[in-house]
Order: sequence, then structure tokens, then C-alpha cells
Amino acid sequence: MKFTEINLHENIQEGLDAIGFEKASPVQEFAIPLILEGKDIIASAQTGTGKTAAFLLPVMDKIMRSKRDGIQAIVIAPTRELAIQIDQNLEGFSYFTEVGSIAVYGGGDGKPFTQEKNALTRGTDVVICTPGRMISHLAGGYVNCDSITTLILDEADRMLDMGFFADIMKIISYLPKERQTLLFSATMPVKIRQLANQIQNKPETINIAVSKPPESIRQGAYSVYNNQKSGLIKQILKEKNLQTVVIFCSSKISTKELARELKRAKFSADEIHSDLDQLQRKEVLQKFRSRKINIIVATDILSRGIDIDNIDMVINYDVPHDAEDYVHRIGRTARAAAKGEAYTLIIPKEQHKFQSIEDLLGTTVEKLDVPEEFGETPKYEPDKQKKFSKFRKKRPDKNRNNRRKSGNNQNKKPSNQRKRKHFKPSEKNKK
Ligand code: ADP
Ligand code: MG
Repeated sequence: MKFTEINLHENIQEGLDAIGFEKASPVQEFAIPLILEGKDIIASAQTGTGKTAAFLLPVMDKIMRSKRDGIQAIVIAPTRELAIQIDQNLEGFSYFTEVGSIAVYGGGDGKPFTQEKNALTRGTDVVICTPGRMISHLAGGYVNCDSITTLILDEADRMLDMGFFADIMKIISYLPKERQTLLFSATMPVKIRQLANQIQNKPETINIAVSKPPESIRQGAYSVYNNQKSGLIKQILKEKNLQTVVIFCSSKISTKELARELKRAKFSADEIHSDLDQLQRKEVLQKFRSRKINIIVATDILSRGIDIDNIDMVINYDVPHDAEDYVHRIGRTARAAAKGEAYTLIIPKEQHKFQSIEDLLGTTVEKLDVPEEFGETPKYEPDKQKKFSKFRKKRPDKNRNNRRKSGNNQNKKPSNQRKRKHFKPSEKNKK
């Protein structure tokens, strides 16, 4: 659905045009009209699906139509980074409007506190805050909350995980009972529903579920050791000889290393990750679209929102962190009913992660044989690996604590060395 089909104030629409938001994401499409109607909502959708605009746009719209004075909306967020980010988003959307905002968060020195205090005393349309800091201001008695009509909790699940329940309730005790309350969350555990029961009035639920990958994608997976990965990828690339291939890596480091290795092996490849600025990324995409290069090695920044069609093949160099990422990544192929292929490389310690992706997808992905010349490969036994990885998980955490406390770096060295050894391509595969 296009934003122009949603009845937002023309000055907000102008801001959306300016930043290039054209189509509403699913959570925006469902949430915005309900919020404009004045309903309470609980919305859950995966990170990166546009929840911020889903609440900011209708709330700004409400504010512009009401022409009231004083604070009209309060957004509570778990961290200062998020509060700042939401505030920056609002500044973008409100560029052609008179809607004002302030981010209120802890961690600064005394001066910003007085600045915040002055702004809060004057009153501004939208206050975006972290819980602790807001309570300090509220306790000061100079914040007039009577004009507040909307409360938004962003990343509610994370706030509860961080133990902010009491703080949230404390803030709410200062707010008018008659208000619209909007709850946004990446996940929807039971405790979120319990919170909703306490602070909302007949909320509408929006749940954007994991979508399933299209049937037209051929999916496969290889169980390999780390040092077999890049060799196998080169083999697949050579064999298939496809026009457009995207290889996803979970880290920037492995993205760069693999891109370097492919270039060295004379593949027509380039890379996309967060070390490149917007313009550089655009250039790489442009070269890819015009077929000047055939292969992009990328981190997850490419898996969402960026429109490149007709990718022949996606390779997951690492197992994605969750099923939704997997779907997003492989969904880059087989657009518009074309056929696509998607392969995932699974190292032993990621087997259980891949199994949980299969669980969520409700299917198993075919495990393919690695060519014999690569030598012995690990068996795919996620159930065994799961026990093993649970056991292993505990220890590094402990070490990290020790390290921080004692300033003793001894533990650091071996673990770094271990990592480097993993990444080193084996001599055999280098050829
Ligand atoms: P979430 O809160 O769900 O994790 P965000 O609101 O932070 O997601 O949005 C993720 C990214 O997507 C941001 O960079 C945002 O600018 C962009 N985005 C959100 N909605 C749209 C849209 N309708 N069109 C284009 N980009 C969008
Ligand atoms: Mg968000």
C-alpha cells in the first residue's frame, strides 16, 4: 500500500516524499489507520520492519490536527541510543511540519538535564525518553502531563527484559487515564500481554508473522567445516556460472575476507557492508544491476528493504541468526515467479541454529553432498550439537566477567587466535 493511500496530513506526506518513503511496510499499513481511529494497539513485527514510522506518523498526524499546547505524546524506549534514533526519525518526518520533540535520556552530565528540564517545563509536542531519566524529571514536579493524549512503548519486550516494568508503571501513574496507548514489540511473550491488560483499553493486536519462502526457490544446505567454506563457495560459483549471486555473511570481517578471496580468484565480485557509505553501496548495487559485476558479498544490511530483483542464487556463508533473516535473505531470489536457488553452509556449531530455522519454516532443507575432493565433512547432527553448544556457552561468559573485573587479558589471546585460525582458508582449497 502506498502512503498516499493513507490519509496523512499533506505536510507529513511531503516529508515522506522527501526521504523517499513510498510504500508502507505491512506493520505500517495495519497500524497507522487503527492509530488514526484512536484505537489502542499491540503491534509485533520483526526488527527492521518499520515500526518507528508506524507509530510516529499517525501520532504526528493527530498532533497536527488537534492544535493543542503542551506535551501531547510520550514515547518510552529502553535505551538512549533508541531514544535518539526515534527523535531523529521524527525530525525527518516532521521537516515540513511544526511538530516539535525532545529526547530525554540518562547518562549525560548535569547540563543536558537542565536543558531537558527547561524544554519539559515549556512543553513540546513529543517527548521521547528512557524510563529512569523521565522519572527523575516527573519527580521534579515541573512536567505538566495533563495534555498528553498518547503513550507509546517502543521495544516493550526489551524494556521488560531489562526490568523496567515498575518504572513504566511509575511513569504511567503521572499520565491521564483517558489516553491512547500503543505498544510496539519485536516479540509477543505472555508478559507483554499481561502488561497490555494493565495499561491498555481493548487493544487491537497486529502480528506480522514470519513469511514463508516461495515454493519456487530451490533450497539446499551443506554441512562443512569452517576451512572448507570459501573453497566450496568458489566451486559452486564456478559450476553454476550464474549472472546474479548474493552471498550473505553474518559479520563484516567475513564479508571482506570472502570478497577479497573471490576477487583474487578472478570472480566478478564486490562487497556491501556498513563500512561503506550510502553512496558507495549504491555504486556497488548499480554495478550489480547493470551486470558489471555478478556477485555481491554482503552483510544483512542487504537482506531487507533493498530492491534488487531477479537474483539467481543466494548463498548463506553463515547460518542467519533467525528464521526471519533466513526468509529475508533467500527471498531475494525468485522474485516475480522466477526460479531461484538458495544454499546455506552450516558449520557444526551452527547446526542447532539451522535446525531451529527449519522448525520455524516447518520443513527440512535438503542436505547436499560436498564434493569428495574437499575431504571429510561433519555429520549433520543438530541434536548432538545442541547439547554440546549449551555446555560451551556458559564458560566464555564467565571468562568475560573475570576479564573485566581483573583487567587480566590472558583469556583474550587464545580466543583471538582460535578465531583467526578458523578464518584462514585451508591450503588445499586455495587453488
Ligand atoms: P523497527 O523499529 O521495526 O526495527 P525501523 O523503524 O527502525 O524498524 O525501520 C527500519 C529501517 O527501515 C529504517 O532505516 C527506516 O528508515 C526504514 N523504513 C521504514 N519504513 C520504511 C518505508 N515504508 N519505506 C522505506 N524505508 C522504510
Ligand atoms: Mg524499532
